[in-house]
Amino acid sequence: MLELVFLGTSSGVPTKERNVSAVALKLPEPKSWVLVDCGEGTQHQILHTRLSLQTLKAIFITHIHGDHCYGLPGLIASAGMSGRAEPLYIIAPKGVQLMYEAIRDNTQLHIPYDVIFIETEAMGSYSLGDTDVTAHKLSHRVPSHGFCFTTTTTNNNLDIERLTNDRIERGPVWGKLQQGMDVTLPDGTSLKASDYVETTQSTQRIVIAGDNDQPALLSSVEGNIDVLVHESTYTEELLEKAGPGPQHSSAKRVATFAAEYGIPNLVLTHFSARFQATSSRGDSIDDVKIEAESVYDGNLYLANDFDTFSLSTTENLIKNESQHPVDNIK
Ligand SMILES: [Zn+2]
Ligand SMILES: [Zn+2]
Repeated sequence: MLELVFLGTSSGVPTKERNVSAVALKLPEPKSWVLVDCGEGTQHQILHTRLSLQTLKAIFITHIHGDHCYGLPGLIASAGMSGRAEPLYIIAPKGVQLMYEAIRDNTQLHIPYDVIFIETEAMGSYSLGDTDVTAHKLSHRVPSHGFCFTTTTTNNNLDIERLTNDRIERGPVWGKLQQGMDVTLPDGTSLKASDYVETTQSTQRIVIAGDNDQPALLSSVEGNIDVLVHESTYTEELLEKAGPGPQHSSAKRVATFAAEYGIPNLVLTHFSARFQATSSRGDSIDDVKIEAESVYDGNLYLANDFDTFSLSTTENLIKNESQHPVDNIK
């Protein structure tokens, strides 16, 4: 089971309802999680969730823009003050390391654990237990990457028919066999786990992209993408008005790629601060949804801060109860 927790879903600047970019990915190993991007205030957002800085394995920063990395020094400092001892790996562009070191050196910041930077370009394939991570180049004003998390799950399936035929009663023996343990019954019969268990492997692939105006660049990902998390800063109309400068995506642009590439689950995020929650005045977030739905008929979500989603071995991404409804923090 993989779980996404959105900690910030606004583009560029925070709003009352949305902080700047950060998303947590909870891995199948107990209490193990990583962070993708760390906009200012991310540590405050984490305080409203069940995530702990003690169990954070690594931080991936998509690009150097402040709305994706200004939260890093404060988060690293707080983890130290709350007793973290494990090394923390940070995969990021060189500029992020230089920013952190400048702040550390000029504010007499002492960190009681190792902070180890790996430059994104040099990352290769990064392993987090059962999850491998690869970086994929995107198109933005500065170098930007998407991170692809591929988790391999091993499932031990009991052969119920054979167990029943061999008159082995449901109970602890079944559990031991399922865990791959051979069992000797009280009457001396020995049971081999391999006779009663079929092992299958399944992979789940989640891509979390940085800022990007060419979603099709993510076709560099090998294998099927189960979930794509991508910025949708604008609608087509607003993207055209914004002119050639911003190098962001519209809902239509991302959704078209997801449809053409056969991606079953799409989560849009990083919305322009001009979008209102209600359509009574100004640009409405509903416009983003309507535009994406016009070209994509998969499982579509527009992320809000504190939304959590889970992906089990089935391919549908499920939205869970919010860990901390946004209404509570206004
Ligand atoms: Zn951004
Ligand atoms: Zn950016």
